[in-house]
Amino acid sequence: MTVMTELPALGVARRLDGLRARLGDAGVDALLVTTLANVRYLTGFTGSAGMLVVTADAALLTSDGRYRTQSAEQVSAAGASVEIEIGGVQAQRDALTARLAGVRRVGLEADNITWNASRRWADDLGEGLELVPTSGVVEALREVKDEGEIARMARAAAIADAALAEVLPMLDAAATRRVTAEEFALALDTAMRRGGAESTAFETIVAAGPNSAKPHHRPSDRWIEVGDPVVVDFGATFEGYRSDMTRTFCVGGEPEGELARVFEVVRVSQARGVAAVHAGVGAKDVDDACRQVIAEAGWAERFEHGTGHGVGLDIHEAPTVSPLGTAILAPGVVVTVEPGVYLPGVGGVRIEDTLVVTDDGSRALTTFSKTISTKDAAA
Ligand code: ZN
Ligand code: ZN
Repeated sequence: MTVMTELPALGVARRLDGLRARLGDAGVDALLVTTLANVRYLTGFTGSAGMLVVTADAALLTSDGRYRTQSAEQVSAAGASVEIEIGGVQAQRDALTARLAGVRRVGLEADNITWNASRRWADDLGEGLELVPTSGVVEALREVKDEGEIARMARAAAIADAALAEVLPMLDAAATRRVTAEEFALALDTAMRRGGAESTAFETIVAAGPNSAKPHHRPSDRWIEVGDPVVVDFGATFEGYRSDMTRTFCVGGEPEGELARVFEVVRVSQARGVAAVHAGVGAKDVDDACRQVIAEAGWAERFEHGTGHGVGLDIHEAPTVSPLGTAILAPGVVVTVEPGVYLPGVGGVRIEDTLVVTDDGSRALTTFSKTISTKDAAA
């Protein structure tokens, strides 16, 4: 069982001012926040319905009657300077509209809001007010994690590591006691929940044998066999924050032939990517470092996804680590490095860690061994 030590508090109270400092650059005087993860980030409120308006000198959170007590408790615990209005849909809209009186330009989160919702806001808010589509304003703030956030992600990763250690003997026993990818995934998910995860971070991927050559295969009822490569991509959620890790094992011993070469190339590629991560480096350069190793092995076409992504309240968030990544990594940014090579008929290998960027490199939150043979890894 996980030892429950006190974690550092989340710095929620500071975030609204961090957002206000960015409103000018976003070309708005106020922002209507409708993305729930952003509402949570700015206020501490974790309910499934809520909207937040942030102006230069005020913030108003609205939700419905189910969340009357919870919203008050969470906003107060977070120390956020936010007023709360609870009511039906129209009452919430009226309260938000009233709070925007006198504001000229209001940002709507264009990546989240529906076309219909934006039309309704245009009707409600009326002529004198300009609606501006914004993108990634709160998400950019979320890229750099504070100490409390990193501690929660580290806890999530530790829960996931411990769960894998607990159930890995099932894979090694595949020779004697038959097991399917589905059964193994379920055991892993259960072990994470027992270990203190509030949920999995995303739907666990277990892809064995020929299925390992499909990067995002769903666990199937195929029996796992000795000699199979098994890609295990999974994570835990702890107090809203997620972890993400992939390990690829070979059941019952070391891989042979072409598959052995795939394992080695991906191991080196991932290590190069991890070594490339430090403050001041472009996300694209991390992708280049991984991709170059795989290209030199002749498999450029077999690495068909980006190298990684940010992780936090969402499993995929900014920054993108890919050939198109424009972000410059800064201390406190959390990214994954997860190159893979997938050869139909041979198998696939992916290795992934979740890393916190530091001034002189990075610190891995996911620390599970990269031993390949289930014989050794499960020992
Ligand atoms: Zn993953
Ligand atoms: Zn990932």
